[in-house]
Amino acid sequence: MSIYNFSAGPAVLPKEVLQQAASEMLDWHGCGMSVMEMSHRGSEFMSILAAAQRDFRELLAIPVNYKVLFVQGGAIAENAIVPLNLAARLSVDKSFGGVADYINTGSWSTKSIKEAKRYCEVNVAATSEAQHFAQIPSRADWTLSKNAAYVHICTNETIDGVEYQYTPDVAADTNGAPVVADMSSHILSRAVDVSQYGVIYAGAQKNIGPAGLTILIVRDDLLGHAMPGCPSAFDWKIIADNDSMYNTPPTYAIYIAGLVFQWLKRQGGVVAIEQRNIAKAALLYDYLDSTDFYLTKIAADCRSRMNVPFFLQDETRNEAFLAGAKQQGLLQLKGHKSVGGMRASIYNAMPHEGVETLVVYMKEFEKRHG
Ligand code: PMP
Repeated sequence: MSIYNFSAGPAVLPKEVLQQAASEMLDWHGCGMSVMEMSHRGSEFMSILAAAQRDFRELLAIPVNYKVLFVQGGAIAENAIVPLNLAARLSVDKSFGGVADYINTGSWSTKSIKEAKRYCEVNVAATSEAQHFAQIPSRADWTLSKNAAYVHICTNETIDGVEYQYTPDVAADTNGAPVVADMSSHILSRAVDVSQYGVIYAGAQKNIGPAGLTILIVRDDLLGHAMPGCPSAFDWKIIADNDSMYNTPPTYAIYIAGLVFQWLKRQGGVVAIEQRNIAKAALLYDYLDSTDFYLTKIAADCRSRMNVPFFLQDETRNEAFLAGAKQQGLLQLKGHKSVGGMRASIYNAMPHEGVETLVVYMKEFEKRHG
């Protein structure tokens, strides 16, 4: 029986990547060492890092005026590190940030807002909280500041299941302030116009690789604005000047990420994977729309292709649903505790057959209990 892992993250990785890592575990390319044992400054690891950076840039067509930084701390750390680096950008007094605009679209934006308030003045320019985060506030309803240091959005809310289906237009939508995007849970799942963003950040443990690596894409002019109190290891300019080697980077996670990037290139890159992701998500949403036995609460124009929360109409059957799913090899479908119900995370490495098998199981379960 095939096993399909629907975890929101850490999440399924391509089998080919795991097999390659296993075959190279004890001896990487004949050097007699595991990647885990290498000096991060040795030529072997430097070549792994350079290839990973090159392939990542190529996959997202990152313009030359952006730096790619491989760091640690996850997206939760970036919730603080972003204001520490950017919020005082336009202020005379650099010890506390000026105004930053935040769009609240769910659990992760809410966390970003709470953290940013420790470092700057936060203007929540729009929120869908009253709609239980089932939609993304329309652009016309964003009340942006005149002089924000940046505008923060979370482009895919992993817990709530909403995803921006467009790239904010910097000039028109944000009064020219740079857009900072938490793309943790959908980076590399679709084509993105990086030039529309000031900063993109993402934890690795969904579409990139193992937990422990965080990737940043920072436009050059946004480096060098850190507040005096920003720890040096979190100062993007220092990290960029040291090519992500200011402190020891998460070497093994970078190596696996590099293998994932090569795998993604073999799949045809983000344009090709996006088409497959659209097809996988449609399979599941079309079925959810066709039945009353299960519910999805998210507005049709902002449904996430990566994270699909759904509910049984009769929630007393939740345990039976999960137990039956497990017997079919369909794992980690329980919804986040703050939302309840079920959630299927269908990242790049989830094969189409995984979603097909899930839908077949859901139909059978409905037939038995409906
Ligand atoms: N933002 C988003 C959109 C996420 O999905 C997650 C993790 N699920 C985080 C932030 C937090 O990431 P971490 O725990 O790696 O800091």
